[in-house]
Amino acid sequence: MFEVFLLRPDALRVWNHPEIRKRLGWYYKVMVDENPAKYRICKRIEVDVDLSVDDEGLWRAHREGAKRFSEIWREIASGDMRIEDLEEPKVSLLDVKVELVKRMLRSCIFCERRCKVNRERGEKGFCKLDATARVSSFFHHYGEEAPLVPSGTIFFTSCSFKCVYCQNWDISTDPYNGVEVTPKQLASIATRLRKEGCRNINYVGGNPDQSMHVIVESLKYMDINVPILWNSNAYSSLEAMEILKDIVDIWLPDFKYGNDKCAERLSMVPMYFEVVTRNLKIMHENGDIIVRHLVLPNHIECCTKQVLKWLAENCPRCLVNIMEQYRPEHEVARRPHLYPDINRRPTMDEMNKAYSIAEKLGIVYEPVS
Ligand code: SF4
Repeated sequence: MFEVFLLRPDALRVWNHPEIRKRLGWYYKVMVDENPAKYRICKRIEVDVDLSVDDEGLWRAHREGAKRFSEIWREIASGDMRIEDLEEPKVSLLDVKVELVKRMLRSCIFCERRCKVNRERGEKGFCKLDATARVSSFFHHYGEEAPLVPSGTIFFTSCSFKCVYCQNWDISTDPYNGVEVTPKQLASIATRLRKEGCRNINYVGGNPDQSMHVIVESLKYMDINVPILWNSNAYSSLEAMEILKDIVDIWLPDFKYGNDKCAERLSMVPMYFEVVTRNLKIMHENGDIIVRHLVLPNHIECCTKQVLKWLAENCPRCLVNIMEQYRPEHEVARRPHLYPDINRRPTMDEMNKAYSIAEKLGIVYEPVS
């Protein structure tokens, strides 16, 4: 605690802000061990199914379990039930999720690229990952948003985007730039980070969706209470969102672009706006959420304004981090003539415009005012 006070005093002060306490209420109670993490509730939800049933039967059983989860989660959140009231079942909702992600890996649809390659057999899709998950580093992160630090951050290699300005390009573009981890090893990393005082386990990359089979299975080997944080590009498939929504306590998605044209040109990603807004709505209904918007120079009208407007209208409970740290990196630094619009940092005037748009829309944004 002393370390936090020295390095990030705002990480303690932020909890005096009533709106932050309200909007991150579930996350806060798990963080201080007043409520159980969602993945621990999943372990107590009974699902009446034989795990060898066909895909259709397994998804049907999952939907039924998820419905039950949702009711119990709300009862626990309102204080009407305790996790101790639930017995350990023979087959739990988490067991069903683990089996489903194993099957999804055989025709991969973890993200909306839907490559349908058999990663279990070594085939590779857009992200170039086979069945292994690789961790490039893990540590106590003091640079995240104030309510999150110190954050037990675990960086996975590879990504479903190819952002020309990626600031983590060394791990997002090279799937082998990390050490292979098994579910049990990942569980012990997460357990260690929590025991050392981290407020959450922050799965990031690159992007975590591509490694979700190992992440979801690792939860079977964890019993420590800790908020699960999903720090992603928000481009998961609908099926992946079904799996994650009962596990993740706090979402930390990027919302970069206000239109598909900018997304295709700068991140090589199709159907961006439709997919990301669909997933943001699911996240908003299933946990606490801090949305990150990186302000790109010359993209205030086409991206920042559209992103903030959509968030104000559709995710009124979310917090927004309006990020100023963009700098030309990776492809932009190498071939600036191809990306003249983003070959500089955003100006103070552009940042002030972004803050002013957020204020007019009534958005609660970081840095918290
Ligand atoms: S994770 Fe996404 S990009 Fe990678 S193989 Fe699966 S669907 Fe394709």
